[in-house]
Amino acid sequence: MKVCKFGGTSLANAEQIRKVCDIVLSDPDRRLVVVSAPGKRNKEDAKVTDLLIALAETALRDESTDAALDAVVNRFHAIAVDLGVHETVATIAADLSARLELDRRDKGRFMDALKAAGEDNAARLVAAYFQSIGQEAWYVDPKDAGMLLTDEFGNAQVLPESYDRLAALSSRTGILVFPGFFGYTRKGEVATFPRGGSDITGSILAAAVMAEVYENWTDVDSVYAVNPQLVNNPHPVSEITYREMRELAYAGFSVLHEEALAPAFLRSIPVNIRNTNNPTAKGTMIVRTRGNFDGTVTGIAGAKGFTTLNMSKYLMNREVGFVLKVLTILASEGVPFEHMPSGIDSLSIIVRSQVMNPEREQTILRRLREELGIEDASVTHGLAIVMLVGEAMAHTVGVTARAASSLAKAGVNLEVINQGASEISVMFGIREEYCNYAVKELYKEFFLK
Ligand code: ASP
Repeated sequence: MKVCKFGGTSLANAEQIRKVCDIVLSDPDRRLVVVSAPGKRNKEDAKVTDLLIALAETALRDESTDAALDAVVNRFHAIAVDLGVHETVATIAADLSARLELDRRDKGRFMDALKAAGEDNAARLVAAYFQSIGQEAWYVDPKDAGMLLTDEFGNAQVLPESYDRLAALSSRTGILVFPGFFGYTRKGEVATFPRGGSDITGSILAAAVMAEVYENWTDVDSVYAVNPQLVNNPHPVSEITYREMRELAYAGFSVLHEEALAPAFLRSIPVNIRNTNNPTAKGTMIVRTRGNFDGTVTGIAGAKGFTTLNMSKYLMNREVGFVLKVLTILASEGVPFEHMPSGIDSLSIIVRSQVMNPEREQTILRRLREELGIEDASVTHGLAIVMLVGEAMAHTVGVTARAASSLAKAGVNLEVINQGASEISVMFGIREEYCNYAVKELYKEFFLK
């Protein structure tokens, strides 16, 4: 059995949905189909999920919801009419009105019940269309199927018992259309994953039914070695490991949701990124191990938005438990850290800028001085992280030297260098204003020479 997940642009209108159905029908193993909510038809358009969020916000402000509700119903209406399944429109409109009647006291819970309506109704619509063309197809209700999630509304995680329950889907007949993005708490309330979370649903289902492959259908031909917005016709990546993908996703590769790889990875299900608009392209295979290397470096990514906490104290290395105390202060202020390069008497802690604010920074600096006697403590903003990633880097001498010298020639100062024990990535910390430039220079060095 193959699990295929289709993203928002693959469901944006009737024409796209017909492509989805053709793709599914062209391979009898494609039996578990996960759908997102209809996405943008063009750049100016709105995603159904965003329309639903606007609708929920209007309701929470106690304003009239007529216009916001119409906007959602009209999107589905246009698709349903075009697909010749008009009868679904009344069901969708009734479903949305029923959701608006739900208890609004817990805002997060109410918001999730509305957000989930995009995927839920898209799945009903796609199942109805398959049936209308004579196929055996079923809408699957995540509640009946056992997609159980934590009650962190808007940021839910799958509960371990879901896997055994969802495994039963593999013995069902016909094409199963499963809505992405949401599941149910143990109390039976709707809860959604973070935004973009239909990728996570697909991965969980693929792991649960031990799929032959998890196909993630989107609107690009493959994953590229570098962000295509920075470089024209970048090198396509035909095969990449989970570890490489994870490192690149961390530094901004956005093809797949960051949390979506874990379920497939744990059960070694290969993930295939494919293009709904170009189904003959083989796409990118994400696998556990690979033997084909067409270069040392697989991908290069850069992300802005990091802040560094710098501290130094004479004879820091002699003080037992020093780092533990620093991290305890950070933890008690609710700040997770990303990297921690250190010297003999100095330590830098790199955090995401979004977890900081001026007040927090001052509190942390004050506590470092008062509780640990670190006089020399400061904060630097505006750091970017550039990652060079490749499994083959572990067996190749001189990759870091080559990267560092190409950045030196380009006049980019390296503030931090970090290479983990896995040796599959090197991280450079540089000033934010050089981020895109540095990524392009590294791409030239490793892919164009
Ligand atoms: N529709 C949801 C969103 O826009 C989930 C998804 O598309 O994966 O975030």
